[in-house]
Amino acid sequence: MSGSLLVDNIGELVTNGAGEGPLGIRRNAAVLVEEGRVVWVGPSAYAPAADHHVDAGGAAVLPGFVDSHAHLIFAGDRAAEFAARMAGQPYTGGGIRTTVGATRAATDDELRVTVRRLRGEALRQGTTTMEIKSGYGLTVADEARSLRIAAETSTETTFLGAHVVPAEYADRPDDYVGLVCGPMLAAAAPYAKWIDVFCEQGAFDVDHARAILACGQAAGLGVRLHANQLGPGPGVQLGVELDAASVDHCTHLSDADVAALAATAHTDGSGTRTVATLLPGAEFSTRSPYPDARRLLDAGVTVALATDCNPGSSYTSSMPFCVALAVREMRMAPAEAVWAATAGGARALRRDDIGVLTPGARADLVVLDAPSHLHLAYRPGVPLIRQVIRNGVPQ
Ligand SMILES: [Zn+2]
Repeated sequence: MSGSLLVDNIGELVTNGAGEGPLGIRRNAAVLVEEGRVVWVGPSAYAPAADHHVDAGGAAVLPGFVDSHAHLIFAGDRAAEFAARMAGQPYTGGGIRTTVGATRAATDDELRVTVRRLRGEALRQGTTTMEIKSGYGLTVADEARSLRIAAETSTETTFLGAHVVPAEYADRPDDYVGLVCGPMLAAAAPYAKWIDVFCEQGAFDVDHARAILACGQAAGLGVRLHANQLGPGPGVQLGVELDAASVDHCTHLSDADVAALAATAHTDGSGTRTVATLLPGAEFSTRSPYPDARRLLDAGVTVALATDCNPGSSYTSSMPFCVALAVREMRMAPAEAVWAATAGGARALRRDDIGVLTPGARADLVVLDAPSHLHLAYRPGVPLIRQVIRNGVPQ
């Protein structure tokens, strides 16, 4: 779309910048967009003229959701495993190997169809930025092609060769770590921005995780990791040690873990350098206790919300669903949850051009079918996304 775009008659504009309350709310506002960027925010009555026009009709407008944790490159599904779990079987993470088998057997086009379907599904629910991880290939060729296909859809791509030790390396995990750090990283790095490790009992221990993440850093990738999901462990503090952008899950935290995250606070009061990304869809889908968001927030830790969209432990692409869970189950105020799903996700990706609607930001906007952001948690399960504008283009 060429020319400028004005979105006006916005009853409640969430800017995550200057304005009322933690969401920087402005009433009766308008946003002017040029060349994919926000260039002006102000009162609707004083809005400048533009080539194109969207009338929000008094509804709420938010920055597009930033989903900073998703696993979209896979084949098959695990609906039967979900049903068994709901009938009482515990979640162990072992089902990842089922998806690895299906993913290796899939063609490039089959993987591409799935990622595009899920990305489209998320976009219709207001997600304008979505991180995508590899991690179901676990061979040099399959990890490289997973990331090559992911990079067709997102610039936020993450190499997760250390998702689980594949069956063929089960009795020699050191050799697998060598493969990940060597030829697999070399093949994956050209398509990846980040490196991630599933640091958990039954997956990768702290020494293996540290070695793999250090190799990734040396190859120019940023660090994020899966930590403290299934039980207490060293993952969160390893993340802080390595200046991870985000430690994800954070379901089982010690006081020392919370203190380590809080100690990464920026001196200007803008939150912590390492973000705690909470993934309540995983606890919902594995019937597990939710992480204690309140404890992190009260300690001054920056919190993000993401879907963890994957076929095993959290097969949702819906950020509004995660916002509702966070409010109902994790003691987050609606404003805190909306911030975490937008600006928080941006922080977890070390981005300042998304998750906000201020001049200079990328023009990613969501028009709700509701007068306020409160409705995202107040009306769970209801399709409240009326229109999505991504990069200044109505979708
Ligand atoms: Zn994950």
